[in-house]
Amino acid sequence: MCSSCGVSNAVILQRHSGRLLCSKCFMEDIRSRVLGEVRKYDMFRPNDRLLLAVSGGKDSFVLFDIISGIHESGRLGVITVSEGIEGYSREEDIAWVLSRSRELGIDCIKTSFRDVVGHDLKDLVSMSVKSDLNVSPCTFCGMIRRRIVNKYARELGYDKVVTAHNLDDESQTAFINLLRGDLNRLLQSHPRGPKLSELFVRRVKPLRKVYEWECALYAYLNGFKFQEVECPYIVSRPTLRAKVREYLYRLEAVRPGTLLRFLNFVDELMINYTGNVDILPHLPTCKVCGEPTAYNRSICKTCELLTKVGVLK
Ligand code: SF4
Ligand code: ZN
Ligand code: ZN
Repeated sequence: MCSSCGVSNAVILQRHSGRLLCSKCFMEDIRSRVLGEVRKYDMFRPNDRLLLAVSGGKDSFVLFDIISGIHESGRLGVITVSEGIEGYSREEDIAWVLSRSRELGIDCIKTSFRDVVGHDLKDLVSMSVKSDLNVSPCTFCGMIRRRIVNKYARELGYDKVVTAHNLDDESQTAFINLLRGDLNRLLQSHPRGPKLSELFVRRVKPLRKVYEWECALYAYLNGFKFQEVECPYIVSRPTLRAKVREYLYRLEAVRPGTLLRFLNFVDELMINYTGNVDILPHLPTCKVCGEPTAYNRSICKTCELLTKVGVLK
């Protein structure tokens, strides 16, 4: 019997809470945890124009389903950025989101690396190999995707970019930043972290307290079909992240709820610093593209790498 409603048969063991849930109560639990996180950190308000960054995977389906259910359609937009990776097309998944968005009257932007940078990711990767650059495909991928989404959001006047990062992603990031002793990044990834440039549209992550397996199950129970194929570049993910991921999963298996407790703890710890955000000066802008760049840099990393591979002259 479901530990929440006490009426329906339980079909899910939620290990971190120790509860057995029916599918309806499970989905309700996910929705209320997402809303709880949105409210706790005041991630957005009813009047905000939100741009949902959607990749087509299970997490973005959950994000789309929950946010489109609580926010006015006229104040929502969806952006998808196709990277151009051989053997890894998410066209079908993306088509579903786009057609559902149109039904709900949500604005859609469909763009690609090729449209914006002039090359697919696979071309950039082979150009990088030819130029003897030791840059992982994920570095190009994340950097360019973030840049495209931020630029569209800014130019189209959105108040927030909403991404589908889940608890697994966020706890790994927090752990890596702790291991590196990188207080600035730890602060920046906090939901109340500083906005380091007027050119950045604030990014919020409503799924950050929902496990990846819960996203997959929520999507499945709602009838979403997502592709099982993984990005072929996943093997080139930075080694530290892969190790941290494996380590945290082992801890979670032994002590369910570890990831959730860890991220809650980091949030509480860092909140004492978020009121003091003036300690971080605003970022300088890149003299090539005019976008924000890291401290002590006059040319941003994106322009530097695109120049090294021969895309920018
Ligand atoms: Fe991009 Fe790396 Fe993710 Fe593939 S695994 S989609 S290259 S970030
Ligand atoms: Zn129930
Ligand atoms: Zn630049």
